[in-house]
Order: sequence, then structure tokens, then C-alpha cells
Amino acid sequence: MDYGQAAPLDRIETVVPLTFSEARDAVIQTVRAARQAPAVEEIGLEGAGGRVLAEDIAADRDSPAVARSVRDGYAVRAIDLPGELQVIGEVRAGERFGGQVGPGQAVEIMTGAPVPEGADAVVMVEYSKRANDLVRIDGSAEPHQFINPQGCEAAAHETVLHSGKRLDYADIAMLAAFGRGQVKVYRQPAVAIIATGDEIVEVEQLPEEFQIRNSNARSLAAQVARAGGTPQLLPVARDTVEHTREMIERGLAADLLLLSGGVSAGKYDVVEEVLAGLGAEFFFDRVLIQPGQPLVFGRARGKFFFGLPGNPASTMVTFEIFARAALELLAGQEEIGLHMPLARLTREFHHRIGLTRFLPARLSADGGAVTPVEWHGSGDIPALTRANAYLVADADRAEYPRGELIRVLPK
Ligand code: AMP
Ligand code: MG
Repeated sequence: MDYGQAAPLDRIETVVPLTFSEARDAVIQTVRAARQAPAVEEIGLEGAGGRVLAEDIAADRDSPAVARSVRDGYAVRAIDLPGELQVIGEVRAGERFGGQVGPGQAVEIMTGAPVPEGADAVVMVEYSKRANDLVRIDGSAEPHQFINPQGCEAAAHETVLHSGKRLDYADIAMLAAFGRGQVKVYRQPAVAIIATGDEIVEVEQLPEEFQIRNSNARSLAAQVARAGGTPQLLPVARDTVEHTREMIERGLAADLLLLSGGVSAGKYDVVEEVLAGLGAEFFFDRVLIQPGQPLVFGRARGKFFFGLPGNPASTMVTFEIFARAALELLAGQEEIGLHMPLARLTREFHHRIGLTRFLPARLSADGGAVTPVEWHGSGDIPALTRANAYLVADADRAEYPRGELIRVLPK
């Protein structure tokens, strides 16, 4: 497959074009430096997965709260083994053994049960032979084996989760384990979405054959919601300065503004002009990537905005690689990442150097192999639905033989 027809590079630039990583760093640094902590709300655990934590969480007790057995077997004194021991009782998870394990004694113990006083090791039931109240253990035991000491996972009052973490299911488990049924999280940023273009009609409308339905606002809304924002769809901005300004002014009421289209060099691409008229500061307006070269990032009236190129693939990709980072930071998230693992190409691939390319691809079920998806350019939505990833071709490398490792951005 061959990609990379010459893209028009003759547009007037307000800022020098940046490489992919320069542009991403610029977004992250600019937003990180300027953002303020979002408002906080308290919610129940059942709705907290995926939300961003707005408080530090401390363990309310040691974890485990007592030394616990991690096997079914016998609680013993390691020094007594090998040997035959007298079984003086049994202890299950959820109860405590009242007595003490003395010399030559053992207590039958279940996984999760507290280790009785006097015992310093657990021997697995598989290595024991029981006859009435006697148990024979032929092997020796290391002191502490199969025992999780009190507090080995976390100590009481220790901070176990930090504010700014996006809560995953393990975090939810830990909040539950430490008795937090309610938790403080940041309010999700409102993200205004404005599609632009005289050719664009709303989804419910029947388009003339020269018109296009507004798919970008919908894909962006889905991406925003997945990234932890609340999408707010505004009406399509017509390609006039007046109407585009009216929509942008409304959009700047949100925490973040996303525009699609109207940022190329065409006569009717008025987005930058309108933003400039509103006194916007531009951090970049072109990035050496494809799809998505004409890409505007700036701030107006204290709000960050992205002017994403209008071709559907460009809109989707530039949101994922740039706007999502801004949104996550505005959402209060501390750690942000763009995971691009390596996968092996199932066929050779080449492109024209100069741009970092993000091209629709199919990642195998195990994630190990990647195949480019045939497509007809940035407007090919059907091809994008067949892709489950983008393969990421480096700007300075043209040839990728079959079997070569290449970076992949899962979709
Ligand atoms: P533009 O960047 O405004 O020149 O738009 C480039 C192309 O992207 C247009 O010709 C349309 O084909 C397509 N496009 C722009 N906006 C949308 C939209 N909201 N939904 C779907 N396609 C769009
Ligand atoms: Mg347009």
C-alpha cells in the first residue's frame, strides 16, 4: 500500500508547523499550566468507574487487617517440621481461632482465615496426611510461608489513591474494601461541539446529493463522552464570519470548544479568522501529520479550543491524539497517556516521509499483528468502521517491510 499524495502546503501560517510530538507536548504543557481544578461532586461507587478522583483516599485499616493464610492447609510452627503434629482445631475465613498453637501442634486453616497465635507458617493441605487428630507433614516449612502479614498490602492511614486518578475497576474495589461507598470526583467538563460547513445538514435531514450529513459532531460527542467530558452539540455553523462567530461565542461558554472543518486554506474556511477576531491566542495551526494537517489549537476568552480539520478521519484522529489530552487534563486527570504499542505488519507498507501518518488498520485479536485497512482517504467512514486501530507511520521512515514492528494506536 502506498500513501501520501502531496497535501497543499501553501496556506498562510500564523505559527510554524509542529511535528506530532511537538504539538502534543504543546497541548499538554499549555493546558497543564493554565487549568484550574474543576468543581467537585460526591457520588456513589456504582457510578464512579471512569470518573476522576477529587480527594486523596487513605486506608481505614491495615490491609490485610490481620495476618491471613493464602492457602488451605495447616497453620504450624516451622521449627516443628518435618513431623507429626496434633491438630487442635480449625479456623475458617471470617472467624478467629481462640487458642494458641504450641510445640507439636497445628490448626487446620482455610484460605483467607487469620493465622492463629503461635503459628508462623502454613503448609498446603496437599503436602499433609491426616489421620484423626494427627497430621503428618514430611517436608519442611519456611517461616512465614503462605502467610500475608498484617498491613503488608497497605497500612492504616496510608494514602492509597491520589486525587487526579481516573478510577478503574481495581480502584473501585479498593474504595469498597476501605469502606468508601461515596467518593468525591471532579465534575465532567462541558465540551461544546460545532461542525462547520454550508454543505453539512443534520442527521435527521434528507441531504441533497451534494450535501453531507453531520457525522463529525456525533463521532466527536462519542469520543468526548468516552474521554470523560459532557458533549454539548451546537447547530452547524454556516461558512460566514457572522454565523460562525455567533456559534463560537456560544461555544466558548463551555469548558472546551471543539470545531470541525473550516480550518483549511479555502476561501470559505473562516474559523481561524473568526477566532482571531475574538482575540484568540494561537499555539499552532498546522501539524505535520496525516490525516489532520491544518489543525488549530488556541485559547479565547480563557477557554481552550481546537479547530479540527473537517474530513471525518481527520476529526477523529486529531481528537484522539490532541484534544483528548486537553480534555483529560481539564477533567482533573493527572496522568495522561497515549498508548501506542508495537505490532507486526502482516504486509509491507510504505509512505512518503515528512508527515506522521495515522492510517486505519486491523489489529489481530491478540494485538500482535496489524494489517492496513483499504480505504479511500480521510472521508471514508466505512473503512474507519472496519478498522480497530490506526497504524502510526513515523515521519522520518518510508519503508516498513512485512514482519516489521510498527506502532499502533488502538481505536
Ligand atoms: P473542511 O475542513 O471544512 O474543508 O471540510 C473538509 C471536508 O470534510 C468537507 O468537504 C466534508 O466532506 C467533510 N466534513 C466537514 N464537516 C463535516 C461534518 N460535520 N460531518 C461530516 N463530514 C464533514
Ligand atoms: Mg468547510
